[in-house]
Amino acid sequence: MRRLKKIASLLLIFTFSDCASQKGFVFKNNPLFGWLESSSYERTINPDPIFQKSPNLIAHEFEFPAGGKLGETFYIAQKFGVENQKFGNRLHLGEDWNFIGGGDSDFGSPVYSVADGVVSCIANYGGGWGKVIRVVYKIQNNQSTQFVEALYAHLYTIEVEPGQMVRKGEWLGGIGDASGKYSSHLHFELREEKNLPLGGGYSFETKGYLAPTKFIINRLGLEKKMTEDQFLYERLAPTTGLKTLNQI
Ligand SMILES: [Zn+2]
Repeated sequence: MRRLKKIASLLLIFTFSDCASQKGFVFKNNPLFGWLESSSYERTINPDPIFQKSPNLIAHEFEFPAGGKLGETFYIAQKFGVENQKFGNRLHLGEDWNFIGGGDSDFGSPVYSVADGVVSCIANYGGGWGKVIRVVYKIQNNQSTQFVEALYAHLYTIEVEPGQMVRKGEWLGGIGDASGKYSSHLHFELREEKNLPLGGGYSFETKGYLAPTKFIINRLGLEKKMTEDQFLYERLAPTTGLKTLNQI
């Protein structure tokens, strides 16, 4: 079945891929980039035909991209929308998910799809981005549908192909450090639309970007309901004695 899925997604790549696309390669004013390494690549597909053929592929529920089912054992090392002096006081456009052990203790650990969706891009941009996966999710608000796109960055490994349909909780890849640029962590963005430019991870405004954890908390499955207050953004390493999320 897994193999069939792979073959199907390879066929989709063949049909829809635009390997020569330079979509999203934005160098100017892009503080995360620095340079493009020669090994860089980007493979994208247009997910629209896949969503059209699979009308039931709707992201009804969301989950966190790392850690346990409630995000336990991970914490947000850098929150969404905070100013970062290293990037000229620009605002962080995603969240940095880190294992409570700190340092590189999460290197290689799984990154999960936050919902059911379609992989629209896999890439290695080198520089400050490293390996990146984009997944498009279709959500339903009353009668209307909307697409949001998640961007999972600095990965060590990529385990999915463009055009692949993924389930909530499916392993997309492993947490990495963008080839040693940082201590390993997951930079996780959630965009209000699909196919926005790659961007630089930071900007003077957060327009077009969603606060990931807030968005997910509002869409957790019924059995996992929690409020934003219950999510300890500032969780620290266990040695500090602070409680982790699974203890509250
Ligand atoms: Zn980040």
